[in-house]
Amino acid sequence: TGNPRTGRDGGASNGTGRSGPRPIVEARDVVLSFGQTPALRGANVSVAAGEILAIMGPSGSGKSTLLHCLAGILVPGSGEVWFDGARVDTMGETQRSTLRRERFGFVFQFGQLVPELTVEENVALPLLLGGVRRAEAVARARTWFERLDLSGLERRRSGELSGGQAQRVALARALVARPEVLFADEPTGSLDSLTGEQVMDLLVGTARQEGTTVVLVTHEPRVAACADREVVVRDGRVTSLVPGQVGP
Ligand code: ADP
Ligand code: MG
Repeated sequence: TGNPRTGRDGGASNGTGRSGPRPIVEARDVVLSFGQTPALRGANVSVAAGEILAIMGPSGSGKSTLLHCLAGILVPGSGEVWFDGARVDTMGETQRSTLRRERFGFVFQFGQLVPELTVEENVALPLLLGGVRRAEAVARARTWFERLDLSGLERRRSGELSGGQAQRVALARALVARPEVLFADEPTGSLDSLTGEQVMDLLVGTARQEGTTVVLVTHEPRVAACADREVVVRDGRVTSLVPGQVGP
C-alpha cells in the first residue's frame, strides 16, 4: 500500500533495514559545515515507513545536525535529503516549513512549551496554526490527555509542570496533528531515568499505535533499546555498527 501508516508490519523491525517497506526519510551523502566546523561529512541513512530508528553517538558527532537536515530545518551544503519521494534539500523555506508543520512532529530535550498557555492550549496550538477551529482543536487535543497520562492537567499553566509532565505535553503536541514522522532529539535528556523511561514508553507505544515513523536522537543505550534499529553517528558519518556488537 502507499500509506505509510499501514506499512510498518513489513519487516522493518528485523534489524537490517533491508527488507522493510519503502524508505520514507533518507539522507544521501549529506555534508554540512558550520563555518569552518564540519558537522556532517557524508552521512547516509534511510528510515523505513513506520520504523523507529535510534541515532546514537558521542556528543558533537553530528546527531542533531543530521536530524535537523532530515527534518528540513537545516539545508545541507551538498548531498540529498528525501521525504516520501520528494527532495527536501532543494525545496524553498516556505515549502519546507509547510512540510514540517503538516507532516512532521517534533520533540526536543526541553519541551519548548509556551509557559503562559495552559496544557490544553499548548497541545491545541499546532491545530490552531493549521487553521482548525478553536472548539475542534481543543476537543482533539483532549483526546490525547488520557493516552499520555495527562488527565487532570488540562487547565494547568505549562510553566508549572514537572519535567516529565512537560515532556508528555510536548509529545501530545507533537502527535496531535497525526504527523507521518516524529523527530525527537534527546527527548528524555532532561529527565531522571525513571521519568525518562515513562516518557519513552509512551512515545514508542503511541508511535506504534499510530504507525508513526520515528527518528530518535539519544545518547542513552537504554532509550535506544526501545527502537527497531540503531545507527551510530561518528565524526559526521553514519555507521550501523553499534559499539560492542560484532559487525558484518
Ligand atoms: P550532537 O547532536 O551529536 O551532539 P551536533 O550535531 O549538535 O552534535 O554538532 C556537530 C558539530 O557541529 C559539533 O562540532 C558542534 O559543535 C557543531 N555545531 C552544531 N551546531 C552548530 C551551530 N549552530 N554553530 C556552530 N557549530 C555548530
Ligand atoms: Mg545534539
